[in-house]
Amino acid sequence: MTAGAADVELRVAGAALAAECARYAGMGWMRGTSGNLSVVLGRDPLRLAVTTSGKDKGELTDDDVVVVDERGRAAGGDGDPVKVPSAEAGLHGRIAAVAGAGAVVHVHALAPVLAAEFWPGGVELRDLEMLKGFGRADHDVVTIPVVPNSQDMGVLGDAFEAGFRPDVPALLVARHGVYAWGADLRQARHRLECLEWLLRFKVETRRDAR
Ligand SMILES: [Zn+2]
Repeated sequence: MTAGAADVELRVAGAALAAECARYAGMGWMRGTSGNLSVVLGRDPLRLAVTTSGKDKGELTDDDVVVVDERGRAAGGDGDPVKVPSAEAGLHGRIAAVAGAGAVVHVHALAPVLAAEFWPGGVELRDLEMLKGFGRADHDVVTIPVVPNSQDMGVLGDAFEAGFRPDVPALLVARHGVYAWGADLRQARHRLECLEWLLRFKVETRRDAR
């Protein structure tokens, strides 16, 4: 790929990521610059376009994106020192590699964090129509894995991989947020939206709810 074609590819990815971030920010899921989204640009070697760090996610442009490798390190791109990939890009890379995802979304919605607080061993979901939006039958028992929070993406990645199941495209990070993924940004969004609903239902109907 020529430098010009690579730049166009990155701009297209940046525009898609900015549009998705604006939707999530509007839902209150990316408060105070939190959260990050990525799309896979290539797999050999793995390259992802990920949102830059420290920007208001409701105000991103197609330029607020940086290319990272499978460990979340800035790779290629325009080498702009001002553009720093999200510190969480390393987990995006790990999820894309292990799950084969084409897009990974990470937000700081409240319901997933509450659910992880109540069920730190994993959140069990069943008998809910909305599971279909997660790609499962409503009578399936689906357990969303929970991992402890860490600032070390290697530690988080190892914990993710240890509990990974190909049929559960999401991960809760305790006291932090949620990751969801899919073939593309649209599928990842639909899964995240449905999962947030499922987790909110689970939290609000728990037996000891007051
Ligand atoms: Zn986060």
